[in-house]
Amino acid sequence: MTDYGKYRYQMFENAGHWFPGTKANRCNECGDCLPRCPQDLNIPQLLTDTHDRLYTRQGRRLWE
Ligand code: SF4
Repeated sequence: MTDYGKYRYQMFENAGHWFPGTKANRCNECGDCLPRCPQDLNIPQLLTDTHDRLYTRQGRRLWE
């Protein structure tokens, strides 16, 4: 599933693409999510790790 995960991750924030969402590096580490997570997860750290694992390149632009 790693290749599929990378494929879908590249769809986030692509101009004109139907797949909604933002890339994990949008996290600004404000920490607001930390006290709200019922599993006590370090969400900013997990997002950084996710981006490092799934980001491969900039998406193709539809125009220059
Ligand atoms: S994921 Fe958590 S730390 Fe990152 S911007 Fe959102 S609330 Fe803030």
